[in-house]
Amino acid sequence: MESVYELRKLIGDELVEGEPMSRHTTLKVGGTARWFWAATTVEQLVAVLEYCQLANIPYLFIGHGSNLLVSDRGYRGLVIQNKCKRIDVGPVTMSETGATLGSLFQQTAKAGYSGLEWAVGIPGTVGGALVSNAGAYRGNVGPLVRSVRIFHDGRDQTVSPDWMEFSYRDSRLRRNQSERAVLLACTLELKYEGDADAILERSKFYQDQRRTKQPFDPSAGSFFKNVNNAELANSLSTLPGALKAAGVVPAGFLIEACGLKGERLGGAQMSEKHANFLVNVGGATATDIRNLASVVKQRVYDRFGVTLEEEVLYAGDWAE
Ligand SMILES: Cc1cc2nc3c(=O)[nH]c(=O)nc-3n(C[C@H](O)[C@H](O)[C@H](O)COP(=O)(O)OP(=O)(O)OC[C@H]3O[C@@H](n4cnc5c(N)ncnc54)[C@H](O)[C@@H]3O)c2cc1C
Repeated sequence: MESVYELRKLIGDELVEGEPMSRHTTLKVGGTARWFWAATTVEQLVAVLEYCQLANIPYLFIGHGSNLLVSDRGYRGLVIQNKCKRIDVGPVTMSETGATLGSLFQQTAKAGYSGLEWAVGIPGTVGGALVSNAGAYRGNVGPLVRSVRIFHDGRDQTVSPDWMEFSYRDSRLRRNQSERAVLLACTLELKYEGDADAILERSKFYQDQRRTKQPFDPSAGSFFKNVNNAELANSLSTLPGALKAAGVVPAGFLIEACGLKGERLGGAQMSEKHANFLVNVGGATATDIRNLASVVKQRVYDRFGVTLEEEVLYAGDWAE
C-alpha cells in the first residue's frame, strides 16, 4: 500500500504493525490496531495528521486509554497515541495534550497554582480530559481552559474554549467524532496561591476518597454518566437530600437499586465496591464488557424509565 510507504517515510521504524490495544487501555481489552504509532512531538504529529487527511487514512487518536473500550476486532487504521507532554507553568499555563492530568497538577501545584486538586487519581491525559470535560468532586477541567490548539479541517489552529462546547462530561469532540479533530495543546488559568504544601495536602484528601471508594481492578472509571433529572431524584426516597436538591441521581445508585452491583458476564463485572465501575476481573473480552453494559442499561430503563448514557467511549470495529 503506497500510503503506508509514505507513512513509514514520515514516522520511520516507530510505526508498528498489529499492536494489541489491550496494552494501551486501562480496561486491558481490545484487539489489534492495524498500525500504531506513539507521537512525541507536536510538529511530527501535525505532519502525520496532514498526510492522513490527504491520503484518507483512518486514524484513532488516543491518550492513556482510560475512557475507551476498543472492540475485540481492533481498529483497521492507524492508532496514534499521544505522548506530547511539554508543560510550561505560569499565570497562564501551557500544556501539550499528551501530558497526564496528574503531572499537570503536580507541576502547577509545586509552582503554587491551585485549581486541579480534584484531578489527582484521574489516570488520563490532558487531551482525554478536555474531550470529556473530566472532573470530580465538583471540579471540572472546562472552566479552567483559556484556549485550545487543535488540528481541525486539515490545519493547525487555535480556538477559544467556546469552540469546545463543554458541558457535563461532554464536549463537541464527543458529539462530532466524524470531524476527526485532534487537540494538540491548551492554555489554562489557575489561581496563584503560593503555598504548594497546602495545595498538595488538599489533593491528598481526594486521593484518599478514591482509595476507599474505587476498585483496583482494571476499569475505565465510572462507566455511565450520572443522571440529571429532578423528578426522578425526588421520587427516590433513599437518595441523599443533597443529591435530591441538586436533581442529580448517580448512575451507581440506579445500578445498585436494580440489584446489579456485583453482576457478572464472562470476565466483566459491575464492581462490588462501586456499582458504576465496570471492571475486568480477569480474562474479559471487549464484547463481555459491552454486553454487560447493555444488560445494565436495559434493566435500569425497565425499572426507572431512564436511559443511562456511557461516559466511556466505544472505538474500533463493532459491526455484527
Ligand atoms: C480508575 C479511574 C478513575 C477515573 N476517574 C475519573 C474521574 O474522577 N473523572 C473523570 O472525568 N474521569 C475519570 N476517569 C476516566 C478517564 O480517566 C478520563 O476521562 C480521562 O480524562 C481520559 O483521558 P485519556 O487520555 O485516557 O483518554 P482516552 O481514553 O485515551 O480517550 C478518550 C477519548 O478521547 C479521545 N481523545 C483523547 N485524546 C485526544 C486528543 N488529544 N484529541 C482528540 N481526541 C482525543 C479519544 O479518541 C477517545 O475518544 C477515570 C478512569 C479510571 C480508569
